[in-house]
Amino acid sequence: MTTLQATLSELHDRLAADRPLAQDLTLAELEVLLAELGQPRYRARQVFHWLHGRLATCWEQMSDLPAALRRELAERLGAVAGEVVADQRAADGTRKLLLRLRDGQQIETVGIPARDGRLTVCVSTQAGCALGCGFCATGEMGLARNLSAGEIVSQVYQFATPHARPEERGVSNVVYMGMGEPLHNYAATLKSVRLLADPLGMGMSERRITISTSGLAPRMRQLAHEGLHVRLAVSLHAPNDAIRSSIMPINRRYPLAEVLAAAREYAAETDRRVSFEYVMLGGVNDAPEHAAELARVLRTALPPALLHVNLIPYNPTAAGFASSSAASIRQFADVLRANGVRVTVRASRGRDIAAACGQLKTETNRANRSTIAALG
Ligand code: SF4
Repeated sequence: MTTLQATLSELHDRLAADRPLAQDLTLAELEVLLAELGQPRYRARQVFHWLHGRLATCWEQMSDLPAALRRELAERLGAVAGEVVADQRAADGTRKLLLRLRDGQQIETVGIPARDGRLTVCVSTQAGCALGCGFCATGEMGLARNLSAGEIVSQVYQFATPHARPEERGVSNVVYMGMGEPLHNYAATLKSVRLLADPLGMGMSERRITISTSGLAPRMRQLAHEGLHVRLAVSLHAPNDAIRSSIMPINRRYPLAEVLAAAREYAAETDRRVSFEYVMLGGVNDAPEHAAELARVLRTALPPALLHVNLIPYNPTAAGFASSSAASIRQFADVLRANGVRVTVRASRGRDIAAACGQLKTETNRANRSTIAALG
């Protein structure tokens, strides 16, 4: 790209970033906007369906809207959430996108196919993250900003088939497990769930949406009373406060007992099983006695039918933690099962494409820095 092209593209981005994103608006909000423009109410349904059902990314695609209205909408709203700056596919079919948002921030989104044809999309909710978990590449970046609801749902749309019936759009599940802490961006996260579930849009079942949290206990409690049917996944990663605080600073604010009490409230209020994510860090949290302790604290907090543990093999990042051996993971799972806790060992996906959250952005930036250094 020439210097002039780069300047023009930067200018274009700056102008686009000034306008609200069309995908941020609910149907009710679009109705207000279109009424202000003197349009009949059905126009709002048309526009919403173009954006969230037919996955349009520019106004020209909305062929059944009058050209004058399209121009007016284009002056008020942006329609493109981000552009793909890196697209990597792993041997196991996992696909990771690095997206550049309108203000230049970069985020990651991952599509994880299952053998039965289902596709799970893992979305980011923040550019960076403020929580600084020691084992996480995103944590090293700090928080740049929250994403808007439209920026969150547009990540899912990158993997969906436009112009298809809801059951044929190709995305079966959405997990909020990418960059950022979803409950730290609470309003946009909830709004994005409602946008994804809207029957005029993707029409996704809330039951196929999982929100993960590192344990923001007050927000977990609030979520329990929102009337949503989403799954809650709590990133526990340790059986006690000493280990948890050493790898997750948020534990000093909301210790294990408080997080588990909030998880119990969520399970009781929604009658939904809570899953506990546990990343297996070699020599840190993966000993058999840690498994026994974990089973004890979980069973004290929740009935066994309402809890499930997912053991996650660690995708090593630059942070200096190591993965547990396969034998340690097997043994850890056996101890949990022997103590009455249901457990799944997650397959490690996309190892060859830096699929751990924040890795692609870190590595791309690192590569860009080395290229710049080499040029300089
Ligand atoms: S693991 Fe999640 S909460 Fe912790 S720093 Fe990374 S993105 Fe943030």
